[in-house]
Amino acid sequence: MSLSARSSYPDVIKVYVSADMEGIAGVTGPEQLRPEGFEYQQFREFMTAEVNAAIEGARDAGATEFVVSDSHGTGLNLLIDKLPQDIQLVRSWPRPLGMMEGIDDSFAAAVFIGYHAGASNVGGIVAHTVSSKAFLSIRINEKEMSEGGINALIAGYFGVPVVMISGDEAAVCEVSDMVGPIEKAIVKWSYSHSSCRTMMPAAAQALIREKVRAGLDRRRELNPFRMKGSLILDLAYKNAEAAEVIAYLPNVELIDNRTVRFVGSIIEISMFLEMACVYPSTMT
Ligand SMILES: [Zn+2]
Repeated sequence: MSLSARSSYPDVIKVYVSADMEGIAGVTGPEQLRPEGFEYQQFREFMTAEVNAAIEGARDAGATEFVVSDSHGTGLNLLIDKLPQDIQLVRSWPRPLGMMEGIDDSFAAAVFIGYHAGASNVGGIVAHTVSSKAFLSIRINEKEMSEGGINALIAGYFGVPVVMISGDEAAVCEVSDMVGPIEKAIVKWSYSHSSCRTMMPAAAQALIREKVRAGLDRRRELNPFRMKGSLILDLAYKNAEAAEVIAYLPNVELIDNRTVRFVGSIIEISMFLEMACVYPSTMT
Protein backbone atom coordinates (compact mmCIF):
# COMPACT_ATOMS: atom_id res chain seq x y z
CA MET A 1 0.00 0.00 0.00
CA SER A 2 1.27 3.48 -0.82
CA LEU A 3 1.44 6.31 1.67
CA SER A 4 -1.47 8.12 0.01
CA ALA A 5 -3.52 4.94 0.15
CA ARG A 6 -2.76 4.65 3.87
CA SER A 7 -4.40 7.97 4.72
CA SER A 8 -7.67 6.83 3.16
CA TYR A 9 -7.61 3.71 5.40
CA PRO A 10 -6.85 5.16 8.83
CA ASP A 11 -7.56 1.84 10.55
CA VAL A 12 -4.62 0.12 8.82
CA ILE A 13 -1.65 -0.19 11.20
CA LYS A 14 1.31 -1.96 9.63
CA VAL A 15 4.10 -3.48 11.69
CA TYR A 16 7.46 -4.68 10.45
CA VAL A 17 9.07 -7.61 12.33
CA SER A 18 12.78 -8.34 11.78
CA ALA A 19 13.63 -11.77 13.22
CA ASP A 20 17.08 -13.16 13.96
CA MET A 21 17.81 -16.41 15.79
CA GLU A 22 20.82 -15.90 18.10
CA GLY A 23 18.67 -14.01 20.61
CA ILE A 24 15.84 -16.54 20.81
CA ALA A 25 15.39 -17.98 24.34
CA GLY A 26 17.64 -21.00 24.88
CA VAL A 27 20.00 -20.43 21.92
CA THR A 28 23.71 -20.72 22.79
CA GLY A 29 25.48 -21.57 19.52
CA PRO A 30 25.64 -23.59 16.31
CA GLU A 31 23.72 -26.58 17.72
CA GLN A 32 20.55 -24.46 17.50
CA LEU A 33 21.59 -21.99 14.76
CA ARG A 34 22.63 -24.16 11.82
CA PRO A 35 20.61 -26.70 9.85
CA GLU A 36 23.11 -29.45 10.73
CA GLY A 37 22.84 -28.69 14.47
CA PHE A 38 21.08 -31.39 16.51
CA GLU A 39 18.65 -28.89 18.08
CA TYR A 40 18.04 -26.71 14.98
CA GLN A 41 14.65 -28.11 13.95
CA GLN A 42 13.29 -27.65 17.46
CA PHE A 43 14.62 -24.09 17.68
CA ARG A 44 12.98 -23.15 14.36
CA GLU A 45 9.74 -23.87 16.23
CA PHE A 46 10.77 -21.60 19.11
CA MET A 47 11.86 -18.81 16.73
CA THR A 48 8.52 -19.06 14.93
CA ALA A 49 6.67 -19.00 18.27
CA GLU A 50 8.51 -15.82 19.37
CA VAL A 51 7.57 -14.12 16.09
CA ASN A 52 3.97 -15.24 16.56
CA ALA A 53 4.02 -13.83 20.10
CA ALA A 54 5.22 -10.48 18.69
CA ILE A 55 2.41 -10.49 16.11
CA GLU A 56 -0.17 -11.30 18.79
CA GLY A 57 1.15 -8.49 21.00
CA ALA A 58 0.94 -6.04 18.11
CA ARG A 59 -2.61 -7.19 17.30
CA ASP A 60 -3.49 -6.64 20.98
CA ALA A 61 -2.49 -2.99 20.38
CA GLY A 62 -4.53 -2.72 17.17
CA ALA A 63 -2.00 -3.63 14.45
CA THR A 64 -3.62 -5.02 11.32
CA GLU A 65 -0.88 -5.85 8.77
CA PHE A 66 2.51 -7.47 9.07
CA VAL A 67 5.68 -8.04 7.09
CA VAL A 68 8.15 -10.40 8.80
CA SER A 69 11.73 -10.80 7.59
CA ASP A 70 13.45 -14.12 8.25
CA SER A 71 16.89 -12.64 8.87
CA HIS A 72 19.15 -15.40 10.14
CA GLY A 73 21.56 -17.72 8.33
CA THR A 74 19.86 -19.04 5.21
CA GLY A 75 16.86 -16.72 5.70
CA LEU A 76 14.79 -19.92 5.65
CA ASN A 77 14.24 -20.64 9.33
CA LEU A 78 10.66 -19.60 10.12
CA LEU A 79 8.06 -22.32 9.58
CA ILE A 80 5.67 -20.76 7.11
CA ASP A 81 2.81 -23.13 7.90
CA LYS A 82 2.99 -22.11 11.57
CA LEU A 83 2.84 -18.34 11.00
CA PRO A 84 -0.49 -16.51 10.72
CA GLN A 85 -1.61 -16.86 7.11
CA ASP A 86 -2.58 -13.19 6.71
CA ILE A 87 1.00 -11.86 7.02
CA GLN A 88 3.75 -11.61 4.40
CA LEU A 89 7.22 -13.10 4.84
CA VAL A 90 10.61 -12.03 3.44
CA ARG A 91 12.87 -15.07 2.86
CA SER A 92 16.41 -15.90 1.66
CA TRP A 93 19.29 -13.65 0.46
CA PRO A 94 20.70 -11.46 -0.95
CA ARG A 95 18.41 -8.46 -0.55
CA PRO A 96 19.35 -4.75 -0.66
CA LEU A 97 17.99 -3.84 2.78
CA GLY A 98 19.28 -6.97 4.48
CA MET A 99 17.45 -7.74 7.73
CA MET A 100 15.03 -4.84 7.00
CA GLU A 101 13.99 -5.74 3.45
CA GLY A 102 10.38 -4.88 2.75
CA ILE A 103 10.17 -1.89 5.11
CA ASP A 104 8.91 1.44 3.76
CA ASP A 105 7.21 4.59 5.02
CA SER A 106 3.78 2.94 5.28
CA PHE A 107 4.74 1.11 8.52
CA ALA A 108 3.73 2.45 11.94
CA ALA A 109 6.45 0.63 13.86
CA ALA A 110 9.29 -1.89 13.67
CA VAL A 111 10.04 -4.72 16.11
CA PHE A 112 13.29 -6.70 16.51
CA ILE A 113 12.98 -10.33 17.67
CA GLY A 114 15.84 -12.72 18.59
CA TYR A 115 18.59 -10.12 18.24
CA HIS A 116 22.22 -10.58 19.38
CA ALA A 117 24.90 -8.08 20.40
CA GLY A 118 27.55 -6.54 18.15
CA ALA A 119 31.03 -7.94 17.48
CA SER A 120 32.81 -5.83 20.12
CA ASN A 121 30.35 -6.48 22.97
CA VAL A 122 32.07 -8.89 25.40
CA GLY A 123 28.81 -9.64 27.25
CA GLY A 124 26.94 -10.90 24.20
CA ILE A 125 25.84 -14.46 23.42
CA VAL A 126 27.07 -15.44 19.92
CA ALA A 127 27.90 -11.74 19.44
CA HIS A 128 28.94 -10.62 15.94
CA THR A 129 28.06 -7.95 13.38
CA VAL A 130 26.58 -8.97 10.00
CA SER A 131 29.28 -11.55 9.19
CA SER A 132 31.36 -13.20 11.94
CA LYS A 133 33.46 -14.78 9.17
CA ALA A 134 34.36 -11.63 7.23
CA PHE A 135 34.08 -8.53 9.45
CA LEU A 136 35.88 -7.37 12.60
CA SER A 137 33.73 -4.31 13.18
CA ILE A 138 31.34 -1.86 11.58
CA ARG A 139 31.35 1.81 12.56
CA ILE A 140 29.05 4.55 11.30
CA ASN A 141 30.06 8.15 12.04
CA GLU A 142 32.69 6.73 14.39
CA LYS A 143 30.11 4.85 16.47
CA GLU A 144 30.48 1.09 16.80
CA MET A 145 27.32 -0.38 15.27
CA SER A 146 25.50 -3.61 16.01
CA GLU A 147 22.99 -5.07 13.55
CA GLY A 148 20.26 -3.55 15.72
CA GLY A 149 21.78 -0.07 15.32
CA ILE A 150 22.12 -0.39 11.54
CA ASN A 151 18.60 -1.76 11.22
CA ALA A 152 17.15 1.00 13.42
CA LEU A 153 18.81 3.53 11.08
CA ILE A 154 17.16 1.85 8.07
CA ALA A 155 13.76 2.04 9.80
CA GLY A 156 14.51 5.66 10.74
CA TYR A 157 15.28 6.53 7.12
CA PHE A 158 11.64 5.69 6.36
CA GLY A 159 10.42 7.55 9.46
CA VAL A 160 9.54 4.31 11.27
CA PRO A 161 10.35 4.01 15.01
CA VAL A 162 11.67 0.77 16.50
CA VAL A 163 9.36 0.18 19.45
CA MET A 164 10.61 -3.08 20.95
CA ILE A 165 13.57 -5.48 20.91
CA SER A 166 13.99 -9.00 22.30
CA GLY A 167 17.19 -10.98 22.76
CA ASP A 168 19.98 -11.45 25.29
CA GLU A 169 20.63 -8.72 27.85
CA ALA A 170 23.68 -7.30 26.03
CA ALA A 171 21.89 -7.07 22.67
CA VAL A 172 18.79 -5.45 24.11
CA CYS A 173 20.70 -2.87 26.19
CA GLU A 174 23.09 -2.05 23.33
CA VAL A 175 20.20 -1.10 21.04
CA SER A 176 18.09 0.70 23.64
CA ASP A 177 21.16 2.72 24.77
CA MET A 178 21.59 3.86 21.16
CA VAL A 179 18.05 4.40 19.86
CA GLY A 180 16.19 5.45 23.02
CA PRO A 181 13.74 4.14 25.61
CA ILE A 182 12.08 1.37 23.58
CA GLU A 183 10.38 -1.64 25.17
CA LYS A 184 12.78 -4.44 26.08
CA ALA A 185 12.28 -8.18 26.40
CA ILE A 186 15.46 -9.71 27.87
CA VAL A 187 15.05 -13.47 27.53
CA LYS A 188 18.55 -14.63 28.61
CA TRP A 189 21.73 -13.53 30.36
CA SER A 190 25.29 -14.36 29.29
CA TYR A 191 27.93 -16.31 31.20
CA SER A 192 30.20 -16.35 28.14
CA HIS A 193 30.02 -16.11 24.34
CA SER A 194 28.31 -19.53 24.28
CA SER A 195 26.71 -20.05 27.70
CA CYS A 196 23.70 -18.41 29.27
CA ARG A 197 20.91 -18.55 31.81
CA THR A 198 17.67 -18.45 29.83
CA MET A 199 13.94 -18.06 30.29
CA MET A 200 11.81 -21.00 29.21
CA PRO A 201 10.29 -20.68 25.73
CA ALA A 202 6.66 -20.12 26.78
CA ALA A 203 7.63 -17.54 29.41
CA ALA A 204 9.81 -15.68 26.87
CA GLN A 205 6.95 -15.69 24.37
CA ALA A 206 4.54 -14.25 26.95
CA LEU A 207 7.04 -11.49 27.80
CA ILE A 208 7.53 -10.67 24.10
CA ARG A 209 3.79 -10.44 23.53
CA GLU A 210 3.40 -8.06 26.47
CA LYS A 211 6.37 -5.85 25.48
CA VAL A 212 5.33 -5.57 21.81
CA ARG A 213 1.86 -4.49 22.87
CA ALA A 214 3.41 -1.87 25.21
CA GLY A 215 5.79 -0.68 22.45
CA LEU A 216 2.97 -0.31 19.92
CA ASP A 217 0.94 1.63 22.44
CA ARG A 218 3.90 4.04 22.86
CA ARG A 219 4.79 4.32 19.14
CA ARG A 220 3.88 8.01 18.86
CA GLU A 221 6.26 8.99 21.67
CA LEU A 222 9.23 7.01 20.26
CA ASN A 223 11.36 8.79 17.66
CA PRO A 224 12.64 7.20 14.47
CA PHE A 225 16.42 6.69 14.90
CA ARG A 226 18.49 8.93 12.65
CA MET A 227 22.03 10.33 12.49
CA LYS A 228 22.76 13.83 11.26
CA GLY A 229 24.51 14.56 7.95
CA SER A 230 25.89 12.02 5.51
CA LEU A 231 26.88 8.72 7.00
CA ILE A 232 30.48 7.50 7.03
CA LEU A 233 30.82 3.72 7.15
CA ASP A 234 34.16 2.30 8.36
CA LEU A 235 34.15 -1.43 7.69
CA ALA A 236 37.01 -3.46 9.23
CA TYR A 237 37.71 -6.83 7.66
CA LYS A 238 39.39 -9.78 9.33
CA ASN A 239 41.38 -10.35 6.14
CA ALA A 240 43.62 -7.48 4.95
CA GLU A 241 43.49 -8.63 1.31
CA ALA A 242 39.69 -8.44 1.24
CA ALA A 243 39.87 -4.80 2.42
CA GLU A 244 42.57 -3.95 -0.09
CA VAL A 245 40.65 -5.36 -3.05
CA ILE A 246 37.24 -3.89 -2.22
CA ALA A 247 38.96 -0.48 -2.07
CA TYR A 248 39.59 -0.84 -5.85
CA LEU A 249 35.97 0.24 -6.26
CA PRO A 250 35.33 3.94 -6.86
CA ASN A 251 34.04 5.71 -3.72
CA VAL A 252 35.67 3.11 -1.46
CA GLU A 253 38.79 4.23 0.40
CA LEU A 254 41.33 2.13 2.30
CA ILE A 255 41.93 3.94 5.60
CA ASP A 256 44.15 1.32 7.25
CA ASN A 257 45.29 -2.13 6.19
CA ARG A 258 41.98 -3.81 7.18
CA THR A 259 39.45 -0.98 7.06
CA VAL A 260 37.59 0.59 4.15
CA ARG A 261 35.50 3.76 4.20
CA PHE A 262 32.28 4.32 2.24
CA VAL A 263 30.10 7.44 2.47
CA GLY A 264 26.39 7.38 1.62
CA SER A 265 22.84 7.13 2.88
CA ILE A 266 21.93 4.23 5.18
CA ILE A 267 20.25 2.61 2.16
CA GLU A 268 23.48 2.82 0.14
CA ILE A 269 25.44 1.58 3.17
CA SER A 270 23.05 -1.37 3.54
CA MET A 271 23.54 -2.30 -0.12
CA PHE A 272 27.33 -1.91 0.24
CA LEU A 273 27.32 -4.26 3.26
CA GLU A 274 25.15 -6.80 1.41
CA MET A 275 27.56 -6.71 -1.52
CA ALA A 276 30.56 -6.99 0.85
CA CYS A 277 28.97 -10.08 2.47
CA VAL A 278 28.32 -11.83 -0.83
CA TYR A 279 31.55 -11.09 -2.70
CA PRO A 280 34.46 -11.78 -0.33
CA SER A 281 33.47 -15.36 0.37
CA THR A 282 36.78 -16.54 -1.10
CA MET A 283 38.73 -14.05 0.99
CA THR A 284 37.90 -14.89 4.59
ZN1 LIG B 1 21.57 -14.61 13.03
